[in-house]
Amino acid sequence: AKDRGDGGYERYRPGMEARGAENSRRAAALRVALLEDQLVVYFQPVVTLPDGRITGAEALVRWQHPAEGLLGPGAFIEAAEQTGLIVPLGAWVLRAATREAATWPGEQSVSVNVSARQLREPGFPSLVAAALTESGLPARRLTVEITESVAVGGGATMENLRGLRDLGVRLSLDDFGTGASTLTLLATCPVHQIKLDRSFVPDGRPDAIADAVAQMARAFGLEAVAEGVETAEQAARLTRLGYEKAQGFHFARPMPAAELRARLTTTVAV
Ligand code: C2E
Ligand code: CA
Ligand code: CA
Ligand code: CA
Repeated sequence: AKDRGDGGYERYRPGMEARGAENSRRAAALRVALLEDQLVVYFQPVVTLPDGRITGAEALVRWQHPAEGLLGPGAFIEAAEQTGLIVPLGAWVLRAATREAATWPGEQSVSVNVSARQLREPGFPSLVAAALTESGLPARRLTVEITESVAVGGGATMENLRGLRDLGVRLSLDDFGTGASTLTLLATCPVHQIKLDRSFVPDGRPDAIADAVAQMARAFGLEAVAEGVETAEQAARLTRLGYEKAQGFHFARPMPAAELRARLTTTVAV
């Protein structure tokens, strides 16, 4: 499908369909999609500030729907979460993303989104270890992105997080600042990176939250990344605030694997 300037897919309009029954219908079709290889992984570059080197990419799942075209995760992740299908779907993304990243020419890392549901599964670190072994990707080049929703997962989740850390995988706290238990999680969870949610990216008003999060990252010895950067002005402000990396339409949209591969060794304008 054509890039419509929104990350490459038709935007899902909430209210378009009724939720509950719709989710199970979606999930049934999604099960088929998994079997029939209709899912694809797009990659959005993560760049260094201020020099714009592509230091890695975030894997973002898409569904090449036979009738509806290329669908973004907004159209199906919720259904996958509610039916538990997120577990095999997430495992598929993990394998596809690590396999792709293993072909990249340098030390670039790949970030994979992992849902709270996946992270509660017993043996999740073994699944990750198997994906690394199969692909040949070194653990240090994989970043697992988690959100604050994992905080409700309890002991099994914490054990899995420690298991991931012991493998040498990096952990990123995604959508930082939007959850209810940001600080609790930061104090108890062994993360390496925090990713400022795009709703806090400075837009001309005072940058208090973006600033505070950068300072907190420094205090905890974590890498600070900003997502959803859409303008040069925002990139400049984030650089001044001490963000080391950023991601957003200003630098590059999510793109198919082959496109990213061709751009990996280039620099983007900051
Ligand atoms: P996320 O992890 O916060 O991913 C960033 C989202 O912001 C992506 O949306 C990306 O296309 C979009 N984005 C990037 N730069 C910009 C920008 O400059 N401006 C704006 N407005 N948006 C930007 P996408 O691909 O639609 O993914 C939505 C969410 O779906 C992700 O949010 C993530 O929570 C979830 N998701 C995606 N892939 C997976 C997956 O494999 N597994 C799981 N569990 N969740 C996934
Ligand atoms: Ca993410
Ligand atoms: Ca995010
Ligand atoms: Ca987000």
